[in-house]
Amino acid sequence: MTESADVMVVCAHPDDAEFGAAGTVAHWTEEGRVVVYVICTNGDKGTSDRTLTPDQLVKIRRKEQEAAADVLGVQEVVFLDYPDQGLEDTPELRKQIVRMIRTYRPRVLVTSDPYRRYLWHRDHRIIGQVAMDAVFPFARDHLSYPDLLAQGLEPHKVKEIWFWGAEDINYRSDISATFDRKIEALRCHASQIREFKRADPVKWLKDLCREMAQEEPFELAEGFHRVELPA
Ligand SMILES: [Zn+2]
Repeated sequence: MTESADVMVVCAHPDDAEFGAAGTVAHWTEEGRVVVYVICTNGDKGTSDRTLTPDQLVKIRRKEQEAAADVLGVQEVVFLDYPDQGLEDTPELRKQIVRMIRTYRPRVLVTSDPYRRYLWHRDHRIIGQVAMDAVFPFARDHLSYPDLLAQGLEPHKVKEIWFWGAEDINYRSDISATFDRKIEALRCHASQIREFKRADPVKWLKDLCREMAQEEPFELAEGFHRVELPA
């Protein structure tokens, strides 16, 4: 098992991390940073293919996620195996994320923005909220979980949270050099991409990334709302 990580990506479904942050993740791993994924649901409802059972889908989506993580040089993928559409803001889930944070001790946590308005998958909204609460204050305070402390999981201060899917974008990450790897990683999610309703998904995504980089001195970007936590 990876001992500690520079970056932890916490997401609801297999493929969220690739849509949200793969180009940035590829940059980090190229720089030698250790990146760990925590995938909270098993994606067992994300298909319109009526011949697939949820069990079959879970196996497919897990393999696809592992392959995508390999493409990006992600060190480890942890699956929490909640059912798709099954995330709730519970003490149990929050504690699981705190356990992950205290185990891997990342400097940066990346997740989905819980404050995106209107149509936003409920699981995306909830995991963003739970991950943010887990960072602050629950992972930080030693009295939060005496049992975790007794297991040797010391409090940990994450320095930054990066939210993808944000409406209020305050940081654009240059992915001009890693866009192709983002695409390669997304292609690993074949069961999802097959159902994608765009004629040319690569062009669609490239246009979005180009638009995101409009005011920047580079061509392609992923956008985030980036929050620095007080020391
Ligand atoms: Zn998702």
